[in-house]
Amino acid sequence: MRRVVVVVLDGMRRDLVGEATTPALVRFAGGATSFAAHRSMFPSATRVVSASFATGCTPARHELQGNTLALLENGRLVYHDAGHPDFLQHKRLATGRSLAVPTLAERLAPHGGMILFSNVSPGAAFAHDPDGHGYIYHRAGSFAPGRQRLEGAQALNIGQDAAGERRMAERFVSEVLVERKPALAILWMGEPDATQHLRPLGSPEHLAVLRQADANAGRVVEAVGRLRDKGDDVLLIVCSDHGHQTVSRIVDVEAELVAAGLKESRESGDVVTPTSGTSTLVYVHPDHAARIDAIGAFLASRDWIDKVVPPAELATVGQAPHHGLAFAISLKSEDAPNAFGVRGLSCESKPVAGKATHLHCGQHGGLAKYEQMPFLMIDGAGFAPGAASHAATSPIDLAPTILAHLRQPAEGTDGRGLQTR
Ligand SMILES: [Zn+2]
Repeated sequence: MRRVVVVVLDGMRRDLVGEATTPALVRFAGGATSFAAHRSMFPSATRVVSASFATGCTPARHELQGNTLALLENGRLVYHDAGHPDFLQHKRLATGRSLAVPTLAERLAPHGGMILFSNVSPGAAFAHDPDGHGYIYHRAGSFAPGRQRLEGAQALNIGQDAAGERRMAERFVSEVLVERKPALAILWMGEPDATQHLRPLGSPEHLAVLRQADANAGRVVEAVGRLRDKGDDVLLIVCSDHGHQTVSRIVDVEAELVAAGLKESRESGDVVTPTSGTSTLVYVHPDHAARIDAIGAFLASRDWIDKVVPPAELATVGQAPHHGLAFAISLKSEDAPNAFGVRGLSCESKPVAGKATHLHCGQHGGLAKYEQMPFLMIDGAGFAPGAASHAATSPIDLAPTILAHLRQPAEGTDGRGLQTR
């Protein structure tokens, strides 16, 4: 049978794939096509990439525009954390739709179905299937089609730690790959991202978690080999969603706009600035649109800015002016090493009160070199073993690639199938 298996090592940088830390990935690359120019989305953030993976579309089309974002609700700009388990359920009530375009779960429901195991934020996991067409397993809740909640041993009761990651990988192999055999099986590991946010890149703790994540990927690669031995035609995609930069400085974008007189107060709804790590989305309420030019000029003059994408150019980065989105900004970066010799430093945008910042540790969200350096390796029909592709690819190409292997149409996606024959 034709099947697709996807393993995502959240936050794994392409330049950190190597024999010493990720021997299973290096071995896998020998029989797969590696994509040497693969990029993330913008923001380069897990919830955004999850929705782009699931739909094959840019944030402009699926509307999950940032890890945090704003929605115009009853004439007011309202801040939301898209990591919350109920965010897309709320968005459906507030705007009439969860994601604005169909997911792989919906497309494949009548064609063998989708099962996802995920250990990232609840909102990122549930972005794969907000309307309940497939099976989603997450520590915050596991759901069968119809969003029917699974209980007890059927649910995924694991921690966000090494033991939980390993248990999830082992259960994915035995239950999903061997027993249940959906058309699309996705294992989205929480590491190395979770540890990278809390420890310096290149530190001993970080290198240890790379080896753990690599071993879990290796478990799936070996299991897929056994499925092929039994005659299954498996497309195996092993990838990450974004890389990481080291945080060298924290910037309070909201406070700077207030101090400059461009936003009334931290709590005001005239301008709202939800952050995604090293990037920020700047929403301006339609009643205050006259202020847009002044805000753009102010942002462009700051020493903590790499790129300000203005309203007329949002489409160039896959964004759109939905809900008053005026600017997408990527914070300052430099290609310099951290204390452990790992390159890539960035400013981090200070999130709302109560949320952590990550000085000297890893972060992502912007357009800088290493956060835009996820890895992608694909093994199966249409992919030359051991080859390197320099094609421009991103997460929107994975849904069309998956659908092509399963002989399903990919109309309505923004990406393209990556098979070469
Ligand atoms: Zn991620």
